[in-house]
Amino acid sequence: MKRREFVGGLAAAASVAACTGEEQGCESGAVASGETFEWSCVTSWPPKYPGLGIAVNNLAERIEKASNGRLKIKVYGGGELVPPLEVFDAVQRGVVEMGHGASYYHKGKVDAAQFFTAIPFGMNAAELDGWLYYGGGLELWRELYAPFNIVPFPCGNTGVQMGGWFNREINSVEDLQGLKMRIPGLGGEVMQRAGATAWALPGSEIFTSLQTGVVDAAEWVGAYNDVALGLHEAASYYYYPGWHEPSAGLELVVNAEAWATLPPDLQALVGLACQAITTDMLAEYTHGNAQALQQLNDDPNVEVRPFPDDVLRVLKSHTRDIVDEMSAKHPEWKKIAESYYAFLEKSTPNQLATEVANLATRSL
Ligand code: CA
Repeated sequence: MKRREFVGGLAAAASVAACTGEEQGCESGAVASGETFEWSCVTSWPPKYPGLGIAVNNLAERIEKASNGRLKIKVYGGGELVPPLEVFDAVQRGVVEMGHGASYYHKGKVDAAQFFTAIPFGMNAAELDGWLYYGGGLELWRELYAPFNIVPFPCGNTGVQMGGWFNREINSVEDLQGLKMRIPGLGGEVMQRAGATAWALPGSEIFTSLQTGVVDAAEWVGAYNDVALGLHEAASYYYYPGWHEPSAGLELVVNAEAWATLPPDLQALVGLACQAITTDMLAEYTHGNAQALQQLNDDPNVEVRPFPDDVLRVLKSHTRDIVDEMSAKHPEWKKIAESYYAFLEKSTPNQLATEVANLATRSL
């Protein structure tokens, strides 16, 4: 579909190689013209889902309006055109021009991509942006995806997530033994090492899996999205913090050949629209989570409680072990991990002295 827009061939593909920095600085072989583009964007989210899914529809609407109709993007919910977790492959193969999802879904195919969504005990949303835009993170991301014929853009962030829904109490590490939990990415690997079994189910399958006991626990996003899925009606214990996702950066992935056919002004527009969506999504979650958590705190059938510190310590220790083992085995992982942790360590004292210290004053 829409393969005709892919004409541009090798010259266009070569021009995208120069596009590794800021979108506004990208040059392409195409020239600005009145040519119109009709693209398709597949997503990993349930159709028009609050936060994640609505953001992609907003992205498409804003780009179409700001381009005066020169770039039209038709958005497909997960499963409408391709399965939710096959977005990356569809864009790589040129089945569609664009996709929206999370880079940690590519675990097993592009393991190091996890750094750009969430690393357990890692960066919050502001730090992730700081690293991506000013600390070299985005260049590393583009370099990582180049062999897959894909140009990535940071496009959305949920902010810090919740630890998830459990149908049993977690009072010690022993309670994780044999636990079946929906939790993707590196967080899932950490849970496996702690004795649980991790599943990476798409959002659309979480409620039924939790309610019927296919899984004993499930993390999705946070109060806003979890209530929308009805997870509070499938399990009683709602744990925090989201140690596994201190923020979750989403991605817009664009087929490199398709990208090269866009004139520079439309390329710049896509980059700007993604940055606007990141701001907008965080605002929607900040507002929606506040309301939904209040609802859950008032719900007599739900108990919102923290994970015990000693459980978190064990999970943190497994995280460092896995990151170090991967660094020893895979040079591309090591390169990204070194950049990520160098910034995280530099940033932590500042976060403690500013965000954390200020939040603490609210309960004085
Ligand atoms: Ca999550």
